[in-house]
Amino acid sequence: MIREQEDQAWMQLAIEEAKKAEQIGEVPIGAILVKDGEVVGKGYNLREINHDPTAHAEMVAIREACERLGAWRLLDCTLYVTLEPCPMCAGAIVQSRVKRVVYGTGDPKAGCAGTLMNLLQEPRFNHETEVTSGILQAECAALLTNFFRNLRNKRK
Ligand SMILES: [Zn+2]
Repeated sequence: MIREQEDQAWMQLAIEEAKKAEQIGEVPIGAILVKDGEVVGKGYNLREINHDPTAHAEMVAIREACERLGAWRLLDCTLYVTLEPCPMCAGAIVQSRVKRVVYGTGDPKAGCAGTLMNLLQEPRFNHETEVTSGILQAECAALLTNFFRNLRNKRK
């Protein structure tokens, strides 16, 4: 229970990142990396502005944390992300040895942390990650549904 409250507080920060993406017209997805009770990396989706299909929130946060920590291994880090990681981000999470992933809402079209497949807990890989899902699920999902609803309304 205490861990769940802690998870919710960190997820709230990931939601703040997602809102920054929304403000610049990007799909609102945000992520933060936490180590020893401290934020060591954060990011939000920058795919459109950077013209970069790899600029997902998780990738941005992982790059920032690695730079800050001066390491490619994020062994004691927990990644909080509003949307379930896609195959690319799940791959980067495994490569960077992130200890634990907490995500808000599942992604039926790309989720690779349990929905379509589970790349974070594949015993044939050399690293497996703890996974917790559904933290502030309604808030994380609402960010996306509101964003796409507004987009549709603008196009009318
Ligand atoms: Zn991704």
